[in-house]
Amino acid sequence: MKITRISVYHRDLPLEHPYWLSGGRLKFEVLDATFVRIDTDDGLTGWGEGTPWGHTYVAAHGPGIRAGIETMAPFILGLDPRRVTDVERAMDLALPGHLYAKAPIDMACWDIAGQAAGLPIADLMGGGSRNPAPIASSVGAKSVEETRQVLDRYRARGYWVHSVKVGGDVERDIERIRDVEAHRPRGERVLYDVNRAWTRQQAIRVMKATEDLGAMFEQPGETLDDIAAIRALHSAPVSVDESLVTLQDAVRIARDGLAEVFGIKLNRVGGLTKARRIRDIALAHGIDCYVMATGGSVLADTEALHLAATIPDQHLLGVWACQDMITAEIAGGRGPRNDHGHLRLPEAPGLGVAPDEEALGEPVAVYGG
Ligand code: MG
Repeated sequence: MKITRISVYHRDLPLEHPYWLSGGRLKFEVLDATFVRIDTDDGLTGWGEGTPWGHTYVAAHGPGIRAGIETMAPFILGLDPRRVTDVERAMDLALPGHLYAKAPIDMACWDIAGQAAGLPIADLMGGGSRNPAPIASSVGAKSVEETRQVLDRYRARGYWVHSVKVGGDVERDIERIRDVEAHRPRGERVLYDVNRAWTRQQAIRVMKATEDLGAMFEQPGETLDDIAAIRALHSAPVSVDESLVTLQDAVRIARDGLAEVFGIKLNRVGGLTKARRIRDIALAHGIDCYVMATGGSVLADTEALHLAATIPDQHLLGVWACQDMITAEIAGGRGPRNDHGHLRLPEAPGLGVAPDEEALGEPVAVYGG
């Protein structure tokens, strides 16, 4: 089987509400999405998506995905999409770095490989759990009262895993964390996501002041060096998200004991082929995982769900449904949808969901015949 054509689509995905991160430093209103269709000489077609969370969240650029694919396309055409590692190597040779630009190609290849094998991607990767995966809520930076209200709204919809965004103001962060923990039902899982907003002194002050609560913090500093520098000064469990990009990052975090949780975002780490190695580093070191899309439609959510399903349920802390935060619908309501705060793995071979091409408009680029 050979890749004969790569078609690239660009679509803006507006967020239902403006979204602030990192203590209000970063604002987002629309996501720049790239959809990729790969055709083969066998007649099989695969779909990929690359949707960074805006241009400012991490070093990933929507237009850069389309430029990267233009550079890589001549090296990908003619390859067998089922041989995902061959495609990965070709992309890494053609364009070092730029992992976010490779993720949608990788995703489309896995979609085709799954269809060719007659298996959902998760089963092709070795076996996927059919237990519904808990979706983590996303609670934007708010006051104590607003945080309570937003959490209650999520709880009413079946959510029991929450990502509460903190960062920016030390006193307010401590107050909000104490209030959330005081009202948290038993068994509910809350992650306080700093999104890099704290300096080292801010991180130490909040993490020390809440030490009695056993709260877990995500990305409490800008870099792995920051997270390492304060490691011995607090006792809180830590999740690394934005600073987990490469396999080498994963090895360092595991070896140096910098975190107890990996936040694996598929687009950031370069797709399923690279993410599954990061997953293995985590599981080999007693590190649990959140697995999420960086952003995007039901396609991106579903890709993340497949990887999440390959992680034993007790080590998977949650997934995400970015589809609930955008107003555009590109798959006619098909694919895994939020079912009372959970996503269910599709049983169809491959990814298990494809977009409506009318919803994507004309391709902005076509490579191959
Ligand atoms: Mg995060």
